[in-house]
Amino acid sequence: MQEVKHFIAGEYCESSLGRTFDNINPCNGEKIGVVHEGGEAEINAAVAAAREALTGDWARMPEQQRTEVLHAVADGVEKRFDEFLEAECLDTGKPYSIARHIDIPRGAANFRVFADAVRSVPTEAFHMETPDGSGAYNIAVRKPKGVIGVISPWNLPLLLMTWKVGPALACGNSVVVKPSEETPTTTALLGEVMNEAGVPPGVFNVVHGFGPDSAGEFLTRHRDVDAITFTGETRTGEAIMRAAASGVRDVSFELGGKNPALVFADCDMDRAIEGTLRSVFANCGQVCLGTERVYVERSIFDEFVGRLAEAAGRYKLGRPEDPATDMGPLVSHEHQRKVLSYYELAKEEGANVIIGGGVPAMPGDLANGAWVEPTIWTGLPESSRIVREEIFGPCCHIQPFDDEEEAIRLANDTPYGLAAAIWSQDASRVFRVTPLIEAGITWANAWFLRDLRTPFGGCKQSGIGREGGVHSLEFYSELQNICIKI
Ligand code: NAD
Repeated sequence: MQEVKHFIAGEYCESSLGRTFDNINPCNGEKIGVVHEGGEAEINAAVAAAREALTGDWARMPEQQRTEVLHAVADGVEKRFDEFLEAECLDTGKPYSIARHIDIPRGAANFRVFADAVRSVPTEAFHMETPDGSGAYNIAVRKPKGVIGVISPWNLPLLLMTWKVGPALACGNSVVVKPSEETPTTTALLGEVMNEAGVPPGVFNVVHGFGPDSAGEFLTRHRDVDAITFTGETRTGEAIMRAAASGVRDVSFELGGKNPALVFADCDMDRAIEGTLRSVFANCGQVCLGTERVYVERSIFDEFVGRLAEAAGRYKLGRPEDPATDMGPLVSHEHQRKVLSYYELAKEEGANVIIGGGVPAMPGDLANGAWVEPTIWTGLPESSRIVREEIFGPCCHIQPFDDEEEAIRLANDTPYGLAAAIWSQDASRVFRVTPLIEAGITWANAWFLRDLRTPFGGCKQSGIGREGGVHSLEFYSELQNICIKI
């Protein structure tokens, strides 16, 4: 039976509360193991270790050596690729075929990319004139911000956690991570890799637990945490922002979404179907960038709905390790209850259920898992909760539009602003429409095409700030302007 422990000051430790909670395999509802629950004592110890690390070997380490250590962390993840893969898929139920190509390689890449970015991205320098004629130089230097609190979700556990830890460490900070209670294993495993790679004790710390009145809240309230980076629900972001206000700590938020896809009649239909299929159903719909609202130009509406439903109907639900599996279960029974409540609501609101809408019949032990059917609805008004609220499941609502202006208005009719996808072969239209969409990331004729150097984040209620490339360096470092009079 697996036992997941905290990782504080370079060592694994048990719950000071004497409490553990169960880690459940969402494929079949079976217990995988137990997770040590952290409280205030663990958070205090982890933050103290992180603070201490800022004055020791880590702080004195030359930048070149820090880069090499972070490359060694990436190598370490890759050396233990199968272990990370198995742990991630056991916690989440996601197919190996996805995690093998996305979650684990990106988990490693996040250390390399940001370690290299720190060494290649310049800062500012300005020469200024002075009344005495001799002038002065202003040079901006980048310094670590301090102890960073990292709070991560369950949908892409290793990828989204390292997306924050990679740049935070590259900039010379120390971190305390509170991974999602649903998916703690790969974050805990990373502690071993950190030790093997020569990351000094206290630089990377992990405390397990829950959100409110537990490790998550204690971390965000801790006055010795200098900044908080969080990915998760918008509602949780609001609570964390309130906690961060005390002590005026900086926050970076990647929050929820209700992302639109606009499919114009001049699209390449095959590509639009393939892309929308992935953007709606990949990772069982549990991708923050995923599409839940699809708007299709009326002349191709019926064909598009028919073809998307046919493709979704071919999806094979199954075990993570089965290479034929397209889709796993949802992350937990709790999340299954939430998604199924929306499936019921859609029926009550009078949706046409084109495909799915329930729980699939799964064989053997899988019958006890958190499965839901890939689902497509049409026929609901814009005011419907199905069209307005983030469901975070394998489902979408498809609605027709008549012209470009209407499509843009519909896309923007949401409190969220994370991502959008536009499908059109008309280059002028693509250039005209994409900047009018209120979203932090807009793809044209693509989805989930990510270059780690580009800005990533949301507008409106989908987030605060941008991470990625130089933008991560901006959040994870403090710029000090040094003015030198000649
Ligand atoms: P969640 O907000 O429920 O939990 C995320 C993390 O916050 C967990 O570790 C949880 O324990 C912790 N937490 C909860 N309440 C807290 C509190 N009061 N104080 C401190 N920590 C607290 O989110 P989730 O259900 O794990 O993830 C799904 C959500 O994340 C969706 O809304 C999705 O859109 C969003 N998401 C956004 C992005 C993005 O880049 N914008 C990426 C992935 C997921």
